[in-house]
Amino acid sequence: MMYAFSYHAPISLSEARKRFEESEDAAYISGGHTLLPTMKNRLAAPSDLVSLGQIEELQGIAVAEGCLTIGAAETHASVAASDAVTGRIPALAGLAGSIGDVQVRHRGTIGGSVANNDPAADYPSAVLALDARLHTSERVIEASDFFQGVYTTALEPGEILTKVGFRIPDTAGYAKMRNPASRYALAAAFVARFGDSVRVAITGASEDGVFRWTEAEERLSKDFSAGALAGLTLNEADMNEDIHASRGYRAHLAALCTRKAVELQGRLTLL
Ligand SMILES: Cc1cc2nc3c(=O)[nH]c(=O)nc-3n(C[C@H](O)[C@H](O)[C@H](O)COP(=O)(O)OP(=O)(O)OC[C@H]3O[C@@H](n4cnc5c(N)ncnc54)[C@H](O)[C@@H]3O)c2cc1C
Repeated sequence: MMYAFSYHAPISLSEARKRFEESEDAAYISGGHTLLPTMKNRLAAPSDLVSLGQIEELQGIAVAEGCLTIGAAETHASVAASDAVTGRIPALAGLAGSIGDVQVRHRGTIGGSVANNDPAADYPSAVLALDARLHTSERVIEASDFFQGVYTTALEPGEILTKVGFRIPDTAGYAKMRNPASRYALAAAFVARFGDSVRVAITGASEDGVFRWTEAEERLSKDFSAGALAGLTLNEADMNEDIHASRGYRAHLAALCTRKAVELQGRLTLL
């Protein structure tokens, strides 16, 4: 059973910030699909939950000037179904549709996923590969500065992620090997091409969370083909090991996903 807490449902960003500051030990709650299980297991005991679900500033999906911007409170299901997303970055819509099960997709949000930075989460790979800008209640943070290790981001206490602005690539692909129970990534690769420049981000595989695979980027920037990656491997020692997969298997899967993501641009591949 959870510890007792007070619940607040502000309707503006400023009210949410105020509630947070005035509370003894508050936490924001978006879809609750990470926070609530943690509270049920008594691993977190916030004095106050400040809901982000009623705040208009955190909603909406828009396209402008080469950028696809998604409000932090948009659910995985709404991103997967959005015409703007499927039309501009179909691999991103596919990624959102690959998350968890139907309940998770209808409650969980992009903001919650990115702010939480689970090492096996899907969205962080798209944020890095699509060179996104993270808009918050206080500032704008570049993707390269945002993820700071497992479950750690550049967000300060009380700072709210408001929207994620993804650069629209010429083409992009996402390939993921799923844990068959949770659907979290055992390893996954997001590959995005912007002219002659290619960005590759790997999630699920490393102990340190999401990372850019720069050697793969260099090769793909010269020759955008799965063949260009022949013989290229990740260092097993840098990979994560748990009951689901060994370091060696994760290194293999991450490289395989990268090749698949190149082959199937514009689409999602589930291995
Ligand atoms: C059974 C199951 C399967 C899942 N499978 C997958 C999967 O395959 N792939 C995957 O990527 N994820 C998966 N998830 C996680 C899911 O995507 C969650 O929805 C997500 O991690 C958190 O989003 P949320 O909106 O539920 O956040 P919450 O649980 O509400 O919040 C998570 C954390 O982020 C903070 N937070 C939330 N929103 C903001 C914000 N806007 N600004 C600042 N801080 C914020 C909260 O304070 C909290 O610390 C799964 C979850 C479950 C329960």
